[in-house]
Amino acid sequence: MTRRRAGSTSRVWRKALALLVLCAVSTVSVSANAANVEGMRLWAAPDHARLVFDLSGAVDANVFTLDSPSRLVIDIDASQMGTDPRTLPLEGSAIAAVRTGKRNGDDLRVVLDLNREIEPRHFTLPPNDQYGHRLVVDLEYPGENAIENPIDPIESMIREQEIAAQRASVQRSIDGVDGREPAPPEDVAATKAQPHPKRDIIIAIDAGHGGEDPGAIGPSGTREKDVVLEISRRLAKKVNAAAGFKAVLIRDGDYYIGLRQRTELAREQKADFFVSIHADAFASPRPQGSSVYALSQRGASSETAQWLANSENRADLIGGVDGNLSLRDKDQVLRGVLLDLTMTATLNDSLSIGGQVLDQLGRVNRLHKSRVEQAGFMVLKSPDIPSLLVETGFISNPDEERRLKSASHQEHIATALFNGVKGHFERYPPPTSLLAWQRDNQRGPLGDEYRIRSGDTLSAIAVQHGVPVSHLKQANDLNGDVIRVGQVLRIPNS
Ligand SMILES: [Zn+2]
Repeated sequence: MTRRRAGSTSRVWRKALALLVLCAVSTVSVSANAANVEGMRLWAAPDHARLVFDLSGAVDANVFTLDSPSRLVIDIDASQMGTDPRTLPLEGSAIAAVRTGKRNGDDLRVVLDLNREIEPRHFTLPPNDQYGHRLVVDLEYPGENAIENPIDPIESMIREQEIAAQRASVQRSIDGVDGREPAPPEDVAATKAQPHPKRDIIIAIDAGHGGEDPGAIGPSGTREKDVVLEISRRLAKKVNAAAGFKAVLIRDGDYYIGLRQRTELAREQKADFFVSIHADAFASPRPQGSSVYALSQRGASSETAQWLANSENRADLIGGVDGNLSLRDKDQVLRGVLLDLTMTATLNDSLSIGGQVLDQLGRVNRLHKSRVEQAGFMVLKSPDIPSLLVETGFISNPDEERRLKSASHQEHIATALFNGVKGHFERYPPPTSLLAWQRDNQRGPLGDEYRIRSGDTLSAIAVQHGVPVSHLKQANDLNGDVIRVGQVLRIPNS
């Protein structure tokens, strides 16, 4: 972007000017703040619209709403409009029309006519690698979900219970190690078998970048944010077409979501797995091929991994996230040992899924690295959701850029991603999932197995087979204590 530079003012002149500024700060500062609105950009998300003013300098702004008719007024001090706001793509946003005018002589007033209820929020951003000074005005829609197709509330409740039970089980094992009295298992063992929910496995698909953050740009101008959204939508289609799976698209349009907010949305949607899809660039055009990343808390597994993690983590700077957003981080709910144990289990799952995904990707594309790499990517920092970041290819490689744009290659990548994920969950289905139910019910129980019937309790089954409840639980990895009708238990030798 071009920046206006001070003219060829002589040194003496500048010194004199500086003195003048010192002497009359109040009067000079007004004109020093004068800015030109060089451009306006608008992004429509399901739960908000973002209006960005690109400015030639820093400004002070006042933003407020007016009723009947409903309007949002944006007053920018000592500024001029240097762009035509009528070219803004208003469709799908809360804005029906944009008008501008002068106020108090040299202030700029921008009035947005609104077609729905909004809550405004605004902040300014300093220049970064891609943009200069910006005033960001977010029009948030109260009560609206950031996800276009959120999961069903009942499904969400089942997941909530499952997650709580898993946490309680980890907590009990910690208490056991600490020498504290673990909770008596007999109470839960007396609980009757519950109906099997046969729930869907939720796959959160995060198309990287978006909105004012284009991501990497290929030699012929292909934007990472566009390619990865297309691959994400293809993947979502495949997930939704498979019985027992449901996709949640974290981003389903051209707008930016903060990195922490992406993982938070996945948690709100009770995702079983989170995958962030990218197509990145390197400083040289040579590197090519797909790679798969899991989180590393300790440091990157290679220099490329470190380089990519740094460039991905910079997205918030370009995407224009207000620093306050990170306060929404709820990670502090899980602490200490519990966090450690959960994260280790989560990372093991991530690496297992990553291996399957890499294996599948290797069938449709060259691999940049033949094992799952690890680095400190911000979007992978969910303590309890297995997460991967997939670099589908290097958009900086002209050949790969062309392939990434092609529908058939995108389709192949999406298929490979889904096959990898499906492969993992078929082997390790969550206990309340349809896949777990199918695994248990598509074959008769073997000699040392028992299929749970309606009315059964864990203690009754234990008595019936002459084994202690604790052995039964251990043999079946029953971390939630709840048993389900149709579930098959392995009966250990007492
Ligand atoms: Zn990226």
